[in-house]
Amino acid sequence: MGPLWVKLASAGVRPTRQRIELAEILFGAGDRHFTAEMIHAEARALRYPPSLGTVYNTLNQFVQNGLLREIALYDAKIWYDTNIGPHCHYYWEDTEQLSDIPDEHAPNLTVAAPPGAKVTAIDVIVRVKAGADPRECPMARFEHFLK
Ligand SMILES: [Zn+2]
Repeated sequence: MGPLWVKLASAGVRPTRQRIELAEILFGAGDRHFTAEMIHAEARALRYPPSLGTVYNTLNQFVQNGLLREIALYDAKIWYDTNIGPHCHYYWEDTEQLSDIPDEHAPNLTVAAPPGAKVTAIDVIVRVKAGADPRECPMARFEHFLK
């Protein structure tokens, strides 16, 4: 029983061989952001590569058991994040990738919930493009707005 076996089992996920192999891809290299298609492509190197459907099912189960965070983007593509704590994201339009916004640049938002409800999460995705004029960076404008 390795650490991934324990991680899955303690989250309430039955640690099958296939789930552990996928968990090695997901959690083996620090925090990362990915789509099911990316993981499916990486999993093709496995001895018994899972189908895309199995990858989707496994990722969904990991989300439901609190092992991954799900992030829906504008084009309806679903991303997954191994960092399940509260944090905001940059979306790199050129390369179509997600990265975490460092704490010192993260917006500090307080939003009131409607009557009878409570805020469970605030998801912020800031779209950026590499090599743009820093004055045109959406984050810079946002910081100016906060001052
Ligand atoms: Zn993240």
